[in-house]
Amino acid sequence: MAGDAPVLEIHDLVKVYRMGEVEVHALKGVNLTVERGEFVAIMGPSGSGKSTLMNIVGCLDRPTSGTYHLDGIDVSRLDRDHRAEIRNDKIGFVFQSFNLLARTRATENVELPLLYSNLGLSTLERARRARQALAQVGLAGREDHYPSQLSGGQQQRVAIARALVTNPAILLADEPTGNLDSRTSEEIIGIFQGLNDAGKTVILITHEPDIAAHAKRVVYVRDGVVWRDERIVQMKAKPGQAVGGAELAAAFPFTVAPAEEPVREEVPR
Ligand code: ADP
Ligand code: MG
Repeated sequence: MAGDAPVLEIHDLVKVYRMGEVEVHALKGVNLTVERGEFVAIMGPSGSGKSTLMNIVGCLDRPTSGTYHLDGIDVSRLDRDHRAEIRNDKIGFVFQSFNLLARTRATENVELPLLYSNLGLSTLERARRARQALAQVGLAGREDHYPSQLSGGQQQRVAIARALVTNPAILLADEPTGNLDSRTSEEIIGIFQGLNDAGKTVILITHEPDIAAHAKRVVYVRDGVVWRDERIVQMKAKPGQAVGGAELAAAFPFTVAPAEEPVREEVPR
């Protein structure tokens, strides 16, 4: 635990993929700081570098250069094994496709990260924490259901419970509503909001402005850099009524911070 250090601090992050003779510059100097308790949506067109950034944030991959501190720990130079350790300890992943084990009950799916952790919990304690996490996402009473016996939204709730059960520093969700209808998407985003209200740091990637509008901050990635970084003011204007001019309204079809509030912004070089 790193006290008051930002939960995530990224400086001049560069990622170059080398494929034979060809180099792809996926990230070209990303700077991003996320404080504990934030709810950040990351948006950007296809190919802009979101997944590359998320893979590094989630300790699945390493940057070519630049630094990344996660919960105060410099993880940018760690080898694969150490990254796996930190990842299991600090990050709770939620994916578009739920990624549940089909022949495994909800509670056992949720227990899995505890099996791989260094916590050394008893069978009983693992089960207790799994039930608690399922209750947190509104699935008390469904512990023994198999994924096929649950709706898409319920399956995603199981996946969120699984992400929560280790009490990670960050919940990292990649298009978590991508496979859900709009009503269910609202439900799922509501779960993330509730967890954030309870103090959890949430970072989610989404293509959908309607989903991003539920976050407290939107970071817009384009061509390998952060080109906009805006705080969202919830409930300050009527739905759809944007503050900040026509250009902002086009980029963000929801309410953004008025000019007197601090707005960090970076422009591509
Ligand atoms: P997004 O998630 O925003 O669609 P990505 O991070 O997946 O963007 O991709 C950013 C750029 O890096 C794209 O040009 C993509 O083709 C390239 N890229 C992504 N992953 C790899 C890889 N493993 N090898 C080579 N190029 C990659
Ligand atoms: Mg992607």
